[in-house]
Amino acid sequence: MSDNERIETGSDTGRHFLKQWIASEVEAGLSGGEVVTRFPPEPNGWLHIGHAKAICIDFGMAQEFNGTCNLRMDDTNPSKESEDYVEAIKRDVHWLGFEWNRFIYASDFFQTMYDIAEGLIRSGHAYVCELSQEEWREYRGVPTRPGTPSPFRDRPADDSLTLFRRMRDGEFAEGACCLRAKIDMASPNIHFRDPVIYRIMRMSHYRAGDKWNVYPMYDFAHPIEDALEGVTHSMCTLEFEVHRPLYDWVVDRMDEMNLLVVRNGAKVRPQQREFARLNLTYTVMSKRRLLQLVEDGLVSGWDDPRMPTIAGLRRRGYTPESIREFCDRIGVSKFESETELELLEYCIRDDLNRRAQRRLAVLDPLKVVIENYPEDKEEWFEAINNPEDPIAGSRQVPFSRELWIERDDFMEDPPKKFFRLAPGREVRLRYACLFTCTSVVKDENGKVIEVRGTYDPLSGGGNAPDGRKVRGTIHWVSARHAQPLEVRLYDRLFTVADPMADESRDFTTLLNPDSMQVVTAQAEPALATAAPGDGFQFERLGYFCADLYDSKHGAAVFNRTTTLKDSWGKANRP
Ligand code: ATP
Ligand code: MG
Repeated sequence: MSDNERIETGSDTGRHFLKQWIASEVEAGLSGGEVVTRFPPEPNGWLHIGHAKAICIDFGMAQEFNGTCNLRMDDTNPSKESEDYVEAIKRDVHWLGFEWNRFIYASDFFQTMYDIAEGLIRSGHAYVCELSQEEWREYRGVPTRPGTPSPFRDRPADDSLTLFRRMRDGEFAEGACCLRAKIDMASPNIHFRDPVIYRIMRMSHYRAGDKWNVYPMYDFAHPIEDALEGVTHSMCTLEFEVHRPLYDWVVDRMDEMNLLVVRNGAKVRPQQREFARLNLTYTVMSKRRLLQLVEDGLVSGWDDPRMPTIAGLRRRGYTPESIREFCDRIGVSKFESETELELLEYCIRDDLNRRAQRRLAVLDPLKVVIENYPEDKEEWFEAINNPEDPIAGSRQVPFSRELWIERDDFMEDPPKKFFRLAPGREVRLRYACLFTCTSVVKDENGKVIEVRGTYDPLSGGGNAPDGRKVRGTIHWVSARHAQPLEVRLYDRLFTVADPMADESRDFTTLLNPDSMQVVTAQAEPALATAAPGDGFQFERLGYFCADLYDSKHGAAVFNRTTTLKDSWGKANRP
């Protein structure tokens, strides 16, 4: 699917399939007529832009149908979870602009899950199996041929119950046995062949401590969590589609045990539907890989501005609005595809173009001396804060005899189409005046270190007094008034669109060595006192944001959010 088509299938122009699904259920008055969704991250890492898609769907559908959405920590696997991740997740969901109805830890249901498992054993729906992992896999077989029943499948319920309790009490080593649902060893769906629902893990849990020696599997825990919370519509990514019959099986068992929530007189049967995950070019998205980048020190942390995490994007200067707009534009479908990073950049540019105030800053400074401008004189010119927003007004920018301009706005021997500064050429200094270069000063290596020339005193504000045509306009900063700024120029994290494409290659070898360059810029005075998080357009250069942590009053540090060049919009705008 092209990006164009993706936009057309976005929610602006119609109802995507999840919306249609929920709408038809609401019309039919199912589940007590209320829509309850949930966003269920596992607190084993920070949220990334893929999660933002799921958040926009889960919270967005609840909003759309006047329902509610729960934020649930899916923390049933003790191995990599922590409270720090929980805090980061809450912060990011909140920052994206969503309010949860209930905040829930799945681990609070551990006892209930355990009790349900015992109930399944008693009703003949589960048994303790002592096959080893390898044997279990062997017996399970392949989809095209029925599997082989475990020799423990028909053991008496009482035996399973005793064994399951001993598993819980820590009497067995990990892997010695497990609890399996008794479903159908001949099912073509491999997940239906007596799946494991509890396993022994001799591990402490960040919340439950050492209380448990057994932990439930995702496929068992998730439908229980949904059902206990009275979730009506449980939306997740496509890889869970083949697990859906198992989800329904667990819900059926809960129904038999009278454990479904009753709302407005009706039983709430949660239902699962799946959508395609977001894949984005020039980055990796799995938490495992992002964790590796953090742990190996290849980035400065989960919120490094190059990371595709929500916190990284925030620090980079992305706004919640731009991320929500991005999620809206990619739409919701069941087709696996790769979304171009350029679309995300387009969304932030579009947002900041409307909102960000303009400022003058020079990233690679080259000195200009105006020979006919008095040494002690200074003038203040009016500069427009945002041409897209009249209410933003204007500000005064200082001007003097010595200026900084961008090194690549000058060429000693330019080609014909170069309309910026060169010996003998005249340009407009934005907001100020017209200037002509007459000579240059070079260092011992022949590098130009100073551009000299004269200005037209009658061209105040940048207009030619005689109406002569001056094509080029460049930006500048008065050297005497300039404030040095640390600026971090960020680029793509990886050098290739799909760092995971070549499985034989360690993806970290494909990191872009130039993903961050640090320069000292010269900027107009107002920028030195920017507050952390403030975003601006540096005219002709891009959008920049004062770093949330490193930027200090009077010693500002800016991150480049994105350049101004818009390759995606040009190619794809209708
Ligand atoms: P990862 O694979 O990145 O480690 P995960 O699926 O293990 O992610 P969870 O914390 O379990 O992470 O995800 C919470 C929810 O976010 C799930 O419902 C999951 O389907 C959804 N989600 C995760 N990654 C994406 C993605 N790339 N696009 C859309 N939704 C996603
Ligand atoms: Mg997961």
